[in-house]
Amino acid sequence: MFIRLLVRRTRNVPFTFEARKFSSKPKLAIVGSGPAGMFACNGLLRKSDFSVDVFEYSPVPFGLVRYGVAPDHQEVKNVINLFDNMFEKNKDRLKMFCNVNIGRDVTFDELTQAYDAVLLAYGSYKTKKLNIPGSESKNVISGSEFVGWYNGLPNASTPNLSTSNVVVVGNGNVALDCARVLSTASSGSLRISDIPDDRKKRPGKRKFWDGTRSPISFNFVLFHSKPLTPFSAFCARLPAFIDSAFPPFLFHPSRFEVSFTIKELREQFKIEEWDSKLEISEEDQKNLIESLPKLERKKKRLTEVLVKNIGVASGPKQCHFMFHRTPNEVIADSDGNVQELIVENTETGKTEKLPCGLLIYSIGFDTLVLDGVPQNEKKMIDMKDHCRVNMGSASGAQVYATGKFGAFNTSLLYRFSGWCAHGPHGVIVDTQQQSIFVADQIASDFAHKMKSVASGVELILKEKKVPFISWDAWKLIDQQERNQGKLTGKVREKLTTFEKFMSK
Ligand SMILES: Cc1cc2nc3c(=O)[nH]c(=O)nc-3n(C[C@H](O)[C@H](O)[C@H](O)COP(=O)(O)OP(=O)(O)OC[C@H]3O[C@@H](n4cnc5c(N)ncnc54)[C@H](O)[C@@H]3O)c2cc1C
Repeated sequence: MFIRLLVRRTRNVPFTFEARKFSSKPKLAIVGSGPAGMFACNGLLRKSDFSVDVFEYSPVPFGLVRYGVAPDHQEVKNVINLFDNMFEKNKDRLKMFCNVNIGRDVTFDELTQAYDAVLLAYGSYKTKKLNIPGSESKNVISGSEFVGWYNGLPNASTPNLSTSNVVVVGNGNVALDCARVLSTASSGSLRISDIPDDRKKRPGKRKFWDGTRSPISFNFVLFHSKPLTPFSAFCARLPAFIDSAFPPFLFHPSRFEVSFTIKELREQFKIEEWDSKLEISEEDQKNLIESLPKLERKKKRLTEVLVKNIGVASGPKQCHFMFHRTPNEVIADSDGNVQELIVENTETGKTEKLPCGLLIYSIGFDTLVLDGVPQNEKKMIDMKDHCRVNMGSASGAQVYATGKFGAFNTSLLYRFSGWCAHGPHGVIVDTQQQSIFVADQIASDFAHKMKSVASGVELILKEKKVPFISWDAWKLIDQQERNQGKLTGKVREKLTTFEKFMSK
């Protein structure tokens, strides 16, 4: 109801649909309001005269900060305060258009014709599928789906949490987030986070999240993703990254067997009442320990955490970190629910059966190239260099890209740490560094451009009757969520029914 009111308000405000007068300021369109787009925007507004329009597919801004980052990482989510300030300070030259899908509501061609510059910062939200027999069984879900569900993503399907055996396939932070959120949930410590109330009741109405019922034990099994990537033939065994020239967590997991960051790893081992252990062979253990003195500081610290937690998990709540396993088949019960995961232990050559009532897999993301954006033979955005898109002889805007997609160019690995260079890896700080760099490049490219006749796309949105959500409308939603949250001591009570509004 509240949302519908906002949309109606947005629809009825004539100003939002008026074409902006031609201005002498160069005009930039940013596709995506996640950290990549927002940090670049912030950098550019500080260093140039640009006026900026931000387009966001979702009805609400900030991408994975809202729908990805875990509810117990509120300090990370606080980055939105910076973006808030940016919008408040730059109202005369910064606009937000949420609920606008570039590629569908506005074509890429329309965008490049209406702006001096376009920055692609739309992330990579296509999850890699677990393609093994039986993977279509009920309660087999991707990490993104699970993360989206507990973060209140509209239309996210509800997992069945009535199980004592969970298997998480993956070796990165998303897998760890899923495991940690499930492990901590039953302690009640997430009660005041921003997990929406409507996600806190598992089927059967028994309370799972608030600790009012006796907790259920979960067994988490984290696999390395070696057999699941196209590069698996080149994969080294678990400890191989130790001798590598690079820290493991900055690179594609196909090259290094763990891509956790130390913060998330430590958090998992510290969860109260849980026994989390790295269950590895004696040979792997020996290799890990022997390599320690040779490592540079960052890798050494991560490896020390791993070594410290080698063992066999025991007690009522156990988390097993298992490696050298290839998931081969999902076995379902007569109702189609996942019941077992069959894996091959590639060290022993034996087949193992893991009881499993919920299977979450997080084995990476595929890059999605928006319709109309030039792509190369690897089906990635065709980059001319580290931040400029190869537009060939096309007229129109200069196009840039930042964030967790883009060209994988090994010569740049040494200079850039963001997801653009490495694909969807790294944390927000990496994205920030990269986006600031891209903002500098744009500012420098346009340093001498004095005049602009770029019109923007508000008229196109009006003609197509696209019900966008403006910054002011978002702030009303934001305020409503915060106020609602306060009533129960939560950070915010997220609205989760945008699909009703979107279908209107
Ligand atoms: C589950 C998970 C947990 C994480 N936890 C942490 C953490 O605790 N700490 C940390 O530092 N980092 C964390 N990260 C990493 C962090 O989220 C990323 O580094 C960062 O979000 C990447 O920013 P981005 O802007 O490139 O992508 P995104 O955040 O994905 O933003 C892209 C935006 O573009 C929009 N978009 C997509 N297509 C279109 C379109 N066609 N038109 C208009 N808009 C479009 C999307 O809706 C989205 O809002 C986590 C990542 C994941 C997946």
